[in-house]
Amino acid sequence: MANLPGPGSVLAADADFLLMPDLAPLSDGHLLLVTARHHACAGAFDARLWAAARRWRDRVDGMFRAAYGTDGLLLFEHGPGTEQGGGACIDHAHWHLLPAGPRLRAVAEGYGMPAAPASRAALRAYYRSRRSYALIDEGGRATVHPSDGVPSQFLRWATMVALERHEGRPAGGPWRWQQSFATPGSRTRFLRTLEILRATAAVQAEASRAGTGHAEGHAEESAESHQ
Ligand SMILES: [Zn+2]
Repeated sequence: MANLPGPGSVLAADADFLLMPDLAPLSDGHLLLVTARHHACAGAFDARLWAAARRWRDRVDGMFRAAYGTDGLLLFEHGPGTEQGGGACIDHAHWHLLPAGPRLRAVAEGYGMPAAPASRAALRAYYRSRRSYALIDEGGRATVHPSDGVPSQFLRWATMVALERHEGRPAGGPWRWQQSFATPGSRTRFLRTLEILRATAAVQAEASRAGTGHAEGHAEESAESHQ
């Protein structure tokens, strides 16, 4: 429908996760980390899958630093307590990852969503009691925020607000994926993200094979040894 590449848009994958650009990117480098099997949210992950997701987060952090020269990343998840709850966009576990810049936590707190330290146990407690949460990882710190009753696609809206503040742009840019999906600007951003980060992923893989990307190679080995 959007004339975008299908399976060819996957940047990297293993048995647990697929990494691909968001189809309606809020910024250059906006990626999704999606579970290969169905899970409602990261609150449903077991310890092994949680550790694997955290390794993917660190790998994407390295990709952003290499590709965009950013100092870290912004990660967020709308964890639905019920179907379509918590402003989720799809009922399948996925983490949004953007090159650092926007300050999302401040927007969420300003909306009346207090922060608590995020851990697998904290997310699991939300999931088990069917409450929705927002996970925000930025500035090297991960927090979880209650998000029952927030509007649809709340975190996309909040991220757009944070981006506009960061870039000094006037407020009011499109944030619903249905608004920007398949527009020429969105398509260009999607393809540019794919091109830049595919090259970065290839360099990472090459470095890993050559033994210079020691940490990443080690992470992949340990991921396999746990399967
Ligand atoms: Zn989403």
